[in-house]
Amino acid sequence: MRIGVDDTDSPAGMCTTYLGAALIRRLHSAGISVGEARLIRLNPNVVYKTRGNAAVCIEAEGDPDRAFAEACRCVEDLADFAGAETNPGVVVCETPPPPDFYYAALRDFCEIDDAREMLEAIGARYRGYKNGRGLIGAAAAVSSELPDRTCELLAYRRPERWETAREVDPVSIFRAEEATWPHTWDSVDRENDVVVCVPHTPDPVLFGIRGESPEWVGKARGCISSEEPLCEQVYVTNQGTDAHLIPGAIGNLLEGRSYILAGRVAAVPATGVGGHVSVALEDAGQTLRCMAYEPTKQFRDVIRRLIPGDAVVAVGSYKGGSLNLEKICIRTLAERVDLRPPICTACGKRMTSAGSQKGYKCRRCGARAAEPETVDRQRTIRPGWYEVPPTARRHLAKPLVRGVPDLPRV
Ligand code: ATP
Repeated sequence: MRIGVDDTDSPAGMCTTYLGAALIRRLHSAGISVGEARLIRLNPNVVYKTRGNAAVCIEAEGDPDRAFAEACRCVEDLADFAGAETNPGVVVCETPPPPDFYYAALRDFCEIDDAREMLEAIGARYRGYKNGRGLIGAAAAVSSELPDRTCELLAYRRPERWETAREVDPVSIFRAEEATWPHTWDSVDRENDVVVCVPHTPDPVLFGIRGESPEWVGKARGCISSEEPLCEQVYVTNQGTDAHLIPGAIGNLLEGRSYILAGRVAAVPATGVGGHVSVALEDAGQTLRCMAYEPTKQFRDVIRRLIPGDAVVAVGSYKGGSLNLEKICIRTLAERVDLRPPICTACGKRMTSAGSQKGYKCRRCGARAAEPETVDRQRTIRPGWYEVPPTARRHLAKPLVRGVPDLPRV
């Protein structure tokens, strides 16, 4: 059977993955054997999310009525019901449903009634608390399929420490990354010299190590010195797989979905208030604003170096009329030719513009010229893929170290 749980936390505390880890231990004690534990990320643009729009699915064998009772009791004991937007959902299904509902919740938006209808259709046991919105994530989690998968080892804090500062030795985390990268990733951001895998939010997570297998995340974990965790759980996950992306076309994008699309740079990139960089792309007469926000740090320099005519593939979420970039591929670079007034052939002095569309004029001898001088400038960027740094990475975004997306046909 599969057990799905979602929406148990609030900005003030708790975490659905922690509740999942607690439930796994309770199921063991109840004589129910547990197989794979899945941490399933859903559409990152959903407004109801507390942090990373995660849900949990536990594969188990045993009495489904008992499992359902244990899951409901665990939610009733641990979920942060005081949170105004905490609406837990619990699902138990005896066989995995088709993955359609998972893909809808991953790439699109769903209604609570869609989840109920799907759960009724497959004869699942389910319970929605408060407004029942958590049924969406719980139903999506039990419907999940993972054609590509990664792992995350999560270490959880002892409840008596939840309100205190986390004690994790940053040097040991850099050591862990050094010892296991590229088989683990995003524990630290080396370029920005920051630890990424220790949260600052008031939840039970002490740290989380992402990597390609339980062995690799376990090896990295072995390097880390910290306060004594309460427990640790390895989840299999769709994190770092780009599972949220839909092939798209400029002019045909829907709000709140995430796309991979092709275009050409249409105008010189601009840096706005707050250091956010925007660049317009065009394709087939339609244009699209792409954004590299300030938290994407050095990635903005890549965007600033684009010029009109560069052919690119952009990846990101379409929100408020802009594509918020997660990564970009420069396919071909336009030639960069700068124009400047020519040297006067009569007296050797550089001419000046004689006015719009009027050519150039020598201020010393009065000679005229029609054409400017052209200067080929070396481009300071190479074709290839570029991504935001680990500090700005979305959970679902596939780091380039795991491989690059297939390019759309143009
Ligand atoms: P955490 O990851 O820390 O557990 P969270 O960021 O996952 O928190 P939730 O508290 O689970 O956030 O809130 C997300 C809510 O949005 C849930 O009720 C979930 O069922 C719902 N939801 C998830 N995906 C979709 C979707 N595609 N359309 C509509 N609602 C969704």
